[in-house]
Amino acid sequence: MSMNRVYNFSAGPSMLPLEVLEQAQKEFVCYGNTGMSVMEMSHRSKDFENIIFGAEADLRELMNIPDNYTVLFLQGGGSTQFAMIPLNLMNKNNKADFVKTGQWSKKAIAEAQRYGTVNVVASSEDKTFSYIPELDPAKFDKDADYFYMTLNNTIYGTHIPDNMIPDTGNVPKVGDMSSNILAERYDISKFGLIFAGAQKNLGPAGVTVVIIRNDLIGNAMDITPTMLNYATHAKEKSLYNTPPTYSIYFAGLVFKWVKKMGGVDAMEKINREKAAILYDFLDNSKLFKGTVRPQDRSLMNVPFILPTEELNAKFIAEAKANGFVNLKGHRTVGGMRASIYNAMPVEGIKKLVEFMGKFEVENK
Ligand SMILES: *Cc1c(COP(=O)(O)O)cnc(C)c1O
Repeated sequence: MSMNRVYNFSAGPSMLPLEVLEQAQKEFVCYGNTGMSVMEMSHRSKDFENIIFGAEADLRELMNIPDNYTVLFLQGGGSTQFAMIPLNLMNKNNKADFVKTGQWSKKAIAEAQRYGTVNVVASSEDKTFSYIPELDPAKFDKDADYFYMTLNNTIYGTHIPDNMIPDTGNVPKVGDMSSNILAERYDISKFGLIFAGAQKNLGPAGVTVVIIRNDLIGNAMDITPTMLNYATHAKEKSLYNTPPTYSIYFAGLVFKWVKKMGGVDAMEKINREKAAILYDFLDNSKLFKGTVRPQDRSLMNVPFILPTEELNAKFIAEAKANGFVNLKGHRTVGGMRASIYNAMPVEGIKKLVEFMGKFEVENK
């Protein structure tokens, strides 16, 4: 390689595994014996069918997706799902329950309100979304068409792990997994629908994975545009129109890489180790401070602050000069945020913590 790669703590698009980038580079001009790039390939060709159906099979294996669920590769990012979900699922009583845990659920709520009644059953807005509110089934609406949660809050650094998913009876649960898909284990059979934009844990931007229970497909509102109807894409196996072919190919390479790493459980183990190194440092530091209630801390996004704005700015600048980039926090939290997705190696966290320790000694 001609230059040293940095440790990239970007929240998204984010770091990708180096060996996957190198494999894509090798296949960039000629894929297999096709004599062309994946980008130049017809999405109707046998070669591309092998790529997309192979990717689906690997994702099904990795996430243990039951047979009565359909996997879709769509466009429009996670944000398009904020409209697609109500258009397709708010179809019986025209209302849904939402858990409000940050900017992404706020956007999902605002979009759903255009199509029906939104009931916010729990919120952590009172403390800048620094914790996960209690999810008490007694407060849920038994007639809601669905129950919506952001499973990992990319901006505020909290998550709802699998063992905290509440019982909603017959009300289908919807989960935004954009920033923790393939990073920690979830039992898919608990959900009616989960979705994830690719650019945090799956590959380059451009493709959004939707996993939907089959009985929830085919009941869209009459006003639903063809392209926003899950049934359109389910019927044609994500090939109704031209899908984001290169992004799907790349996500497929990432799925193979996760399999090689040992699968989702092995990834989760590494992610726990990585997060523990960083949180332990924060808990023991006299200068740096984590901003999230300890039991709700995300494995993927770690926000932290220094005592003054001057020190925050100094740390971000010195970190960058030392090869730790994109550590600036979201404007609503301030300070720093380290996004440590699957592709961030343990070594990257160890080196960051070492650097933070040095900064603390020099600035106390
Ligand atoms: C990034 C993100 C989104 C939005 O994704 P886009 O693909 O940019 O639309 C939605 N939800 C969560 C949790 C995210 O992290």
